[in-house]
Amino acid sequence: MIEFTPEMRDSEKLRRYYGFTLFTDRSKAVAHLKKLKGAPYFMSNRRIAELADICESNLSQIYHGRRGASRDYARFSEIHRDTEAAILGVRPEINPPLRGGAHMDPVGARRRLQALIALGFPMRILSEGIDWGKDPQPVHRFVTGKSGRVYIVASTYYKIKALYEKLHDVRPEDMGLSKVAIGRARRSAVLHGYAPSSCWDDDTIDDPSAFPEWTGACGTPEGFPIHLREEIPACEPCKAAAGWKEREHGTLNGGKLRAMMELRQMDAFELARRVGVSDDAIRRWVWEQRHPSMGNIRTMASELRCQMAELMDGYTLDEDPDIRPEDFKGALFRTMIKDSGRTVHQLAREAGFSHTTLYNWIKGRKYPDMERIQKVAKVMEVDWKDFYR
Ligand SMILES: [Zn+2]
Repeated sequence: MIEFTPEMRDSEKLRRYYGFTLFTDRSKAVAHLKKLKGAPYFMSNRRIAELADICESNLSQIYHGRRGASRDYARFSEIHRDTEAAILGVRPEINPPLRGGAHMDPVGARRRLQALIALGFPMRILSEGIDWGKDPQPVHRFVTGKSGRVYIVASTYYKIKALYEKLHDVRPEDMGLSKVAIGRARRSAVLHGYAPSSCWDDDTIDDPSAFPEWTGACGTPEGFPIHLREEIPACEPCKAAAGWKEREHGTLNGGKLRAMMELRQMDAFELARRVGVSDDAIRRWVWEQRHPSMGNIRTMASELRCQMAELMDGYTLDEDPDIRPEDFKGALFRTMIKDSGRTVHQLAREAGFSHTTLYNWIKGRKYPDMERIQKVAKVMEVDWKDFYR
């Protein structure tokens, strides 16, 4: 059921009686509005409305293509030609006067929050500091970029900036925050490679093309050795300057290894002893000077009581179009478990899921999914495809 707005009725009348209409499709105006509101202009609705000399709420209705109360709106696709001309007449402004609702590039705000986390401020404290409430999840999503936000409103930006000015030379310990919370924040900063405030100055932190200055020589050939000496994971510009090879998918991630070692409270000496390599080798893997073999990654994962994937840059599932889930051989699977010197219960514990799952597969009550069957095969050190032959 189509609802007619007054514009649509008028438009239809004119078309019918005179063969022309004063109305036109809104898409051209919307495309122009998108340009004005997006990077690098980030003009606010209010500013555009002011320049086009039309009412702000009318502008927003045109942008969204709907009119009326929120529950009881009507969609429309045509606008008056005069309105279109007024909107298309607005020229983009590079630095529009900032009002609370103006859209801004989120990069500077994100870097400031990351720097505070690197100092040891827990996300809950940051969330409360910018009036986002006690739940740290929105801050987490914003900081990691998972929220997919392409802009931040100016009022939030200024709150984050003010919080950063207040906290960036304060030690979180002096604020009475718990050691555990501080440690967790710092670990997560190491894991994600968040740059501390010492890497930025006021000119660079808001500049999307700037990169953090970890060593004082980042991006030059001198930078890389300083990273190694100071035990700071190499930054991207330094890796590029040193002719670093692009990290391959499925290789060890040094930051993740370091974080896992800290979590398990195992130092390089201890891990080296258990894996049977020199502690120097461990350090080179942590700083990604060298990449360990898959066998060594597997040994480290078992010594650190984690999955290999938790130490790696993401691993891909093997795919084989010729293998169908229903070809899984439960009885063969059971024999192979026995041959690997394990019981079903032991295997379930090692792979990290319930023995009921494994029995369901063995008895043919369910077919295994690719992700879990490949995990099991890794634990058993066999080819997963052998379960299907
Ligand atoms: Zn660097």
